[in-house]
Amino acid sequence: MKPLKTLIMKKSNLFVLLFIALIGIIFQACQEQEKHKRQLVITIDDLPLVFPTTADSAMLITNKLLATLTKYDIESVGFVNEGKILKSPHSDTLHQALELWLENGQELGNHTYSHYSLNEVSTDSFKNDILLNEKYLQPLLEKHGQTLRYFRHPYLQTGGDSLKKERIDQFLETNGYTQALITSGYYDWLYAAAYRNVHGKRELEEKVANAYIDYINRDLDFNEYAANLVVGREIPMIMMFHANTLNADHFEKVIQVIHQRGYEIVTLEEALQDTIFQLGNPIVTTQPMGWLQRWAIHKGIPVDTLLQVDPFIPELANFKMY
Ligand SMILES: [Zn+2]
Repeated sequence: MKPLKTLIMKKSNLFVLLFIALIGIIFQACQEQEKHKRQLVITIDDLPLVFPTTADSAMLITNKLLATLTKYDIESVGFVNEGKILKSPHSDTLHQALELWLENGQELGNHTYSHYSLNEVSTDSFKNDILLNEKYLQPLLEKHGQTLRYFRHPYLQTGGDSLKKERIDQFLETNGYTQALITSGYYDWLYAAAYRNVHGKRELEEKVANAYIDYINRDLDFNEYAANLVVGREIPMIMMFHANTLNADHFEKVIQVIHQRGYEIVTLEEALQDTIFQLGNPIVTTQPMGWLQRWAIHKGIPVDTLLQVDPFIPELANFKMY
């Protein structure tokens, strides 16, 4: 009996040692993961919301988005078009919505007054449109202790000829703006249009919402892969969303997917500290494109972001893809 008891003791000691070693390995792995945590920035375009709607739904969308951002302690940058607000019969409510973004610790940036495409207006008109938006935004931001510092091109169109691009780049720099190019998340507006068109049809709403969450995963899969191809490593993702009902209803799931992929959500200022973004925007094109796609083209690497969209989404959105 004695040898058997000794054997059992020895075995249990061995298990304890193995258990301690395993805990050590897991602890070390967690520390390593923490050191190399992926970074991602949330940016939200066309504030206070994309489509003019009732005052109540404007506040509902605003409150839902802000509730999710607050719950997950996220500091986003929202890009504003003042012209859309002033054209709306609900301009007072829309101004209140903007105040709410600032009161909830979110930063606001300039997205032009009229949401012009730089492809379609002169350089001077575009500059005036930026300054007109600034006239409204600057005092609002100052009231909340912020400085207006970020600019995003509507439709991500940064100038279809080199002179135009150079003049606007120079103008933005002179006026103290940092351009907020994106690295991921281009097609949320298309899923949102499909979601809006199936409003009230429960099954279809759910189908679009589920497809949207899958799209977020595919988009990040693709852009992580693209970053490795183009840059040779992963980079902080600057993800673009829009202020719409789809995101208002499902943003919590979007954030959960981002966290599940090992991303820490950081500020735009923090992400732009990665020296890779100092390389700027290398190509002149009329096409709407993110930063990674521009660099892929510049380096001769084929990248097609359209592959990420579910084929039934453009149909439900009544949108003909080019
Ligand atoms: Zn926009």
